[in-house]
Amino acid sequence: MLLENNKSLIKLNTFAVNCYAENFICIKKEENIKESIEFIKREKKKYFVLGGGSNILLTKNIEGLVLHNKLEGIHIIGEDSDSLTISVRSGLIWNDLVNWTIEKKLWGIENLILIPGTVGAAPIQNIGAYGVEIKDVFENLNAYNIETGEKINFSKKDCQFGYRDSIFKNELKNKFFISDIILKLKKTKNPILTYAPLIKEFEKNKLPVTIENIGKTVCQIRNSKLPDPKKIGNSGSFFKNPVIEKKILDQILKSFPNLKYFQQNEKFKLSAGWLIEQCKWKGKKLNNCGVYDKQALVLVNFGSAKGIEIKELAEKIKMDVKNKFNIDLVEEVQII
Ligand SMILES: Cc1cc2nc3c(=O)[nH]c(=O)nc-3n(C[C@H](O)[C@H](O)[C@H](O)COP(=O)(O)OP(=O)(O)OC[C@H]3O[C@@H](n4cnc5c(N)ncnc54)[C@H](O)[C@@H]3O)c2cc1C
Repeated sequence: MLLENNKSLIKLNTFAVNCYAENFICIKKEENIKESIEFIKREKKKYFVLGGGSNILLTKNIEGLVLHNKLEGIHIIGEDSDSLTISVRSGLIWNDLVNWTIEKKLWGIENLILIPGTVGAAPIQNIGAYGVEIKDVFENLNAYNIETGEKINFSKKDCQFGYRDSIFKNELKNKFFISDIILKLKKTKNPILTYAPLIKEFEKNKLPVTIENIGKTVCQIRNSKLPDPKKIGNSGSFFKNPVIEKKILDQILKSFPNLKYFQQNEKFKLSAGWLIEQCKWKGKKLNNCGVYDKQALVLVNFGSAKGIEIKELAEKIKMDVKNKFNIDLVEEVQII
């Protein structure tokens, strides 16, 4: 196990913010998790699990040990006439897994192509895009309790998945190291074309509905709207789309009849991007950071922003949305 000290995390977070880890370990095999847990216990250290750093905003140096996840591998663990069950090591790059499933014509996560980060972080916020969430194909996961070293299996129910949410963002926040996740994918054709812009692209281009075409089309749409973190620092959607009750919707509609919303069961989901745009933040710059000009939900680092500057920008946006619409935006990104 190679222990590094005072390690810069600038290349390990997609906001490209320069913060340091007091201690740093790269987890390449299961044994390294156990060694790290021993180290944490022995040295009475704080700890933080880091995947691809694409859903965090670092506002300060990280005290204690950063466990950087590099566990890799895909194993087939079950098969029947309709489906294949796979166990995936948590440090694998999510997009590599998606490409593997497309190549093997296994249906279920093709709409989630190009989401940055690792497989192990995907259940943390129940990643979702283009009408699909990981919970739709999720079976269970294995995780180490970092304080006790105990390895526990979590069923889908145990994970308490919600919209960009799970138990690992709430009462079990920063308590477990997820080591493997188990997914059940379909061997038979099962396209999910419920998201309007995706349907529109298929109709416009008269594309046959194949798993490859879904992957390609989602990539095209994403590339036209989202900044590439390799070119401009960002963490995707900074805020969640607010979900509100009918009576609050009706109140807002009185003042803003052109409000964008989508019905979700009994509730209504608003477009956080639209709310931010109405507050004139789209494309605006504040010192070294700002709001992306093609998508107001994405905050960007123009090069040398500190995490705290980006946090201040987010707070200003939240305040303006609150003052204009009386809506409290909630961060999707975890602020550290
Ligand atoms: C350009 C861009 C587009 C994006 N688009 C989407 C999208 O469409 N949909 C979506 O849902 N998200 C999206 N995201 C957000 C992000 O990619 C996902 O949330 C992703 O799952 C984060 O993975 P990560 O490995 O980078 O996690 P990190 O940022 O490293 O970590 C996120 C959290 O998970 C914890 N964690 C990470 N790995 C583990 C583990 N093995 N065990 C326990 N805890 C762990 C961390 O401690 C941290 O609290 C986007 C981000 C970017 C930059």
